[in-house]
Amino acid sequence: MDLKILLSWSKKEFSYLPWRRERSIYTTLVSEIMLQQTTVSTVQKHFDRFLERFPHLEALAKATEEELLVAWKGLGYYRRARNLKKIAEHLILHHEGKFPLEEDKLRCIPGIGPYTSQALIGIGRDERALAIDANLERVLSRLYALKEEKGLKLQKKIAELFLKKKILNQKNISYRDLNEALMDLGRVYCQARKVSCGLCPLSSHCEAFLRGNPLSFPHEKALDKKRSEDHVIQVLRLIVMKKDHILAYKKSEKEWLSGQFEVPTCLLSSTDKKLIQYPLLKQKVDWAGLPMFKTGITKYKIENYIQVISYQEFKALQFPQPVEWRKYSSESSNLSTASIKAIQRLKKP
Ligand code: SF4
Repeated sequence: MDLKILLSWSKKEFSYLPWRRERSIYTTLVSEIMLQQTTVSTVQKHFDRFLERFPHLEALAKATEEELLVAWKGLGYYRRARNLKKIAEHLILHHEGKFPLEEDKLRCIPGIGPYTSQALIGIGRDERALAIDANLERVLSRLYALKEEKGLKLQKKIAELFLKKKILNQKNISYRDLNEALMDLGRVYCQARKVSCGLCPLSSHCEAFLRGNPLSFPHEKALDKKRSEDHVIQVLRLIVMKKDHILAYKKSEKEWLSGQFEVPTCLLSSTDKKLIQYPLLKQKVDWAGLPMFKTGITKYKIENYIQVISYQEFKALQFPQPVEWRKYSSESSNLSTASIKAIQRLKKP
């Protein structure tokens, strides 16, 4: 298989991505953690800003929780930002602020798993390593028509074949380019439920395409086919403003967006009866007809109803969490994105 066409396609189309402009292991760590659960187009909007704020490990290790969450805003899944900071702290404390060279030492760093360590070696250092995530797993299982079921078994098989030079073996290849080109292929042409084999630079070598059944790879366990049920929840977001300040409360450790501030938000109804993310109000509130916008988090589809009330009305509602006045600014405040959306939605005619 001649990989050159794939590599030059990827270079031509995607070299502009901000994390591909200037390379270091640190920037690779940041971009890989950002990209783990967030789309390329979203990371693109936030990567430079985060790097400007935290240009190196030392700056990241010294960041306060609030600074970190503000810089991470818009990327979601905030646990990743905290992990990133923990990795920086660990490297400063135990490795003199340098990334260890050996894979086993990288893997000992809390927050760095098999995927990230391979990405740091393959992409960050451009050495022989393959960062196998669901994306690469899918592309390679199709290219080589691998019969292993999706998941750990398949990832192990791919890693083994790669190590034995039985797949993707080619001299004078940049492993950084190879990893990124395969990621691009999986994102653009070889998606989970849609393939564009006619445009794919590897179609003449792709076993699944030649067999005519690309979508049947990777094989799935019967259990995986049964998708987890989605839930719909309705919340009421209370907007209490005083000049440029807004009433907000800090989300606890056990709640979504922990450490961030939200406008007082109460649960109105939920199809998941076990959900304990928002407090309930003692009083009944008539929310039908209020302005509403939709958001989503994991398997929850959220309908956000918005109501503007006075501070006196708010006090009468006996909101069960401690609240405080926060200066409102969509750019720099530690207010959740949904809270900012609620305020902006009210400004729309
Ligand atoms: S030919 Fe089709 S199935 Fe094969 S790698 Fe390309 S897009 Fe995927």
